[in-house]
Amino acid sequence: MNQMREYLSAEDLQRLEQLLAGSWPDVWPRVRELWSRADAVCMGIIGPATQAHVTLEFAVSLELPKRYAQAAKVLFPALHDPSPTVVAYALQSLQECPEWQKDKLPDSVLKRQEMVQWHSGCFGWKQSLGEGIAELTADHPQAQDPWERTKEAERRWAGRERSCPKCGASFVSVQDLGVCPKCQHRFRASQNDG
Ligand SMILES: [Zn+2]
Repeated sequence: MNQMREYLSAEDLQRLEQLLAGSWPDVWPRVRELWSRADAVCMGIIGPATQAHVTLEFAVSLELPKRYAQAAKVLFPALHDPSPTVVAYALQSLQECPEWQKDKLPDSVLKRQEMVQWHSGCFGWKQSLGEGIAELTADHPQAQDPWERTKEAERRWAGRERSCPKCGASFVSVQDLGVCPKCQHRFRASQNDG
């Protein structure tokens, strides 16, 4: 909870509490509505290091399974949602559920061709839903409190120069995941030397 306060504006924190308040059957339609209106999928901390923050959509994806043990029951069907942003956020959220296993990801998700805007750190890029999901589910960091994990990644990698394993270009990212400015290769600094 304290970790979350560091990355959410006071206004978004209030909206999050309103969204996740009340009895379970009312919560999911509000969450789905929020995710379906998102114009981008934000994976973790975004923005330059001095203004690192998370979006309300991302914060909700982490908090929903922590507060509602029933979350997986709606999140699994949401992987077939017509809205690509709902699918992406539902998957991020599912990865925080004890019921989640990578082999439960339906193949149909990986075949979705809709183009989605993705954000991570100081980077934004367009990629099909299926390709983005494939990256989201690859080598997910070990289970740990998601806010702790976010914090830890920032502590380790914020502002540190790393080298692209593909073309060797050096650049700085706000968190673990980086996108090479030269060749657009995406990689996690924690899984490479740099
Ligand atoms: Zn590169």
